[in-house]
Amino acid sequence: MELQIPKGTFDLLPYGADEPWKQIFLWQKLEEILRKLCQEYGYQEIRTPIYERTELFTRGVGDTSDIVTKEMFSFEDKGGRSLTLRPEATASTMRSFIENRLANLGGVHKLFYIGPMFRHERPQSGRYRQFHQFGIEAIGARVPEQDAEVIDLLYQLVQRLGLKNLKVRLNSVGDVQSREAFRDAFLSYLTPHLKALSEESRERFEKNPLRILDSKNPQDREIVAKGPSILHYLSSEAKAYFQAVCQALDLISIPYEIDDKIVRGLDYYNHTVFEVTTENLGAQNAIGGGGRYDGLIGQFGGPDLPGVGFAVGLERLIQVMIAQNIAPKETLPPTLYFIPMGQEEKARAHCFSAATLCRHHHISAAVEFQAKKIPAAIQNATRTGASYIAIMGSDELKKGVIQLKHLVDREQREILLDQLIPVLKEMLYA
Ligand code: AMP
Repeated sequence: MELQIPKGTFDLLPYGADEPWKQIFLWQKLEEILRKLCQEYGYQEIRTPIYERTELFTRGVGDTSDIVTKEMFSFEDKGGRSLTLRPEATASTMRSFIENRLANLGGVHKLFYIGPMFRHERPQSGRYRQFHQFGIEAIGARVPEQDAEVIDLLYQLVQRLGLKNLKVRLNSVGDVQSREAFRDAFLSYLTPHLKALSEESRERFEKNPLRILDSKNPQDREIVAKGPSILHYLSSEAKAYFQAVCQALDLISIPYEIDDKIVRGLDYYNHTVFEVTTENLGAQNAIGGGGRYDGLIGQFGGPDLPGVGFAVGLERLIQVMIAQNIAPKETLPPTLYFIPMGQEEKARAHCFSAATLCRHHHISAAVEFQAKKIPAAIQNATRTGASYIAIMGSDELKKGVIQLKHLVDREQREILLDQLIPVLKEMLYA
């Protein structure tokens, strides 16, 4: 049997990828942009384990959310403890924040993470079982400008990537009091429509009715659209906070649309919730989203500190860039590819030593160790992204030279081996 990759996962490759978004250089470039952005906004990287104790997610993410009820990759370790591959990173970040007593250092804590997440979803286009998220968390400030800063960072990210057709959609799910008031009104509105709702929404009616608001089922959406709006049930405090967040966004000219149907999947959100969506992803139109989670850290046994953050899916960012034809191009360093001709062991040894000399002088170089014929060697050189080939056969050996040829413009020149480094430096970096 041929060995196969597990369902819902994928490889990222330096070449030979079966889909353009799986080319590793795109991921490297994106990560570079993310790190620079975070540095400019004062967010610092945190890396937590890929797996945690299962109760972190059941307590943190909420035991009625889809992630916890259906999608966790959980397993028992040899001591019988239940562990889970992280389905998201906010809960882990909070655990680490508390466990390492970072709050004692005072001030606002701005953290970011980039890494794989795991959800046992039905694989489909844009949905994987191992996928990657970039996310930020700002812990310690409950001021509207903090919410606006987090949304602005996400907006800046999509701007810098050059993404088009995007929308920032904003809502407030208020405080507990607001949600209770809305929940009562929403349930009474839905009761006569129960039979018409999808099975999933009927289930949610019992367990977590707010989630019916962001159902993707068209009939559910129609019913929900005519129902009450959570914004009309906000407490006066929650309403004032929401208005202040909108004002802070206006102040820095971030365009947004208020969408009272956004609730986000996880239980820990309150007040501000938001999403960035695009028209280029079909059903999976959310690039990312987040919100405020005041109370979560306290719930985990930590200090009573507020927090706000978001997470975006890197697969989706890259897929949208490709769909919109704005993905960056690969830029490889000018590589020199040495080709010893024929069976000449001496030529191979000379090529090897010349390539080593190049590398020691920071010029990237490779040697053909496998192909016996020039066309095959040139093909290999092209695949690895080399700009130049350097051919050495018996004539060159005798003269102590190599033939240097540009692979695109085909210009060729002979270079004395002992002049190789100064000539190359002048040629490549002049
Ligand atoms: P969530 O944590 O569910 O709010 O997800 C935030 C973002 O992560 C989504 O908007 C997607 O871009 C991405 N995402 C979530 N689940 C998956 C998945 N199974 N496959 C790929 N991307 C995902």
